[in-house]
Amino acid sequence: MKIAVLGTGMVGQALAGRLAGLGHDVTVGTRDIAATMARAEPDGMGNPPYPAWAQAHPAVKLATFAQAAADAELIVNATSGAISLAALEAAGSDNLAGKVLLDIANPLDFSGGFPPTLFVKDTDSLGEQIQRAFPELKVVKTLNTVNADLMVDPRQLADGDHTVFVSGDDADAKKTVTGLLESFGHRDVIDLGDITSARGTEMLLPIWLRLFGALGNPMFNLKVVR
Ligand code: NAP
Repeated sequence: MKIAVLGTGMVGQALAGRLAGLGHDVTVGTRDIAATMARAEPDGMGNPPYPAWAQAHPAVKLATFAQAAADAELIVNATSGAISLAALEAAGSDNLAGKVLLDIANPLDFSGGFPPTLFVKDTDSLGEQIQRAFPELKVVKTLNTVNADLMVDPRQLADGDHTVFVSGDDADAKKTVTGLLESFGHRDVIDLGDITSARGTEMLLPIWLRLFGALGNPMFNLKVVR
């Protein structure tokens, strides 16, 4: 499948690398190609700069948000939640219309320091905001409750039978996304319902952040035992 991964951070890199490894035709989207390729320093989390990652993944192309989205059949939103609407606006609603958006972004507000708070919750979610802003896009919220490494390789923990979720209004879009998750190795994908159920997974972030603090590393996940 032709896939655009909007986002050059650790999540964009993890998704793009894994999807390309599975044989998909992957283009990463960024604001400014030259600025992204000029990065020489690791990011705030110590991850290598994008050019170093790109060198190790020669099959993955880099384009602007709009160029990447225009050519894609499916789009991944791996941008910072605070600017996801702006990034999708830059991608262009014509380039998004009718396509599936695998939306990983979390509505985190770091303005008060760490741990961040949620800038939308309870009666709304970032997933719903995106769906409202781009009604022709088929938004499927998923993978926002796990660390980037586990998103694309759940077998790094036990046998990969821990839980991830999908939320979205379009049944076929959720089927497509679930198929991708299964190709990554996910064995327990729970369909929570329509896009309003993204409130539930986005509001898991406060407990995720506290677990991160308590355990001292991000390699953990929830398993819904039933
Ligand atoms: P990030 O630093 O949150 O986001 C990086 C991307 O956001 C880059 O592509 C950057 O564009 C874009 N961006 C930043 N400011 C922008 C602006 N003003 N206008 C347009 N685009 C802008 O990267 P991340 O850590 O990989 O996380 C991506 C998303 O996944 C976030 O929403 C995060 O909450 C969610 N998430 C992360 C994890 C994790 O393990 N890190 C786990 C679950 C969910 P450029 O390419 O142009 O710099």
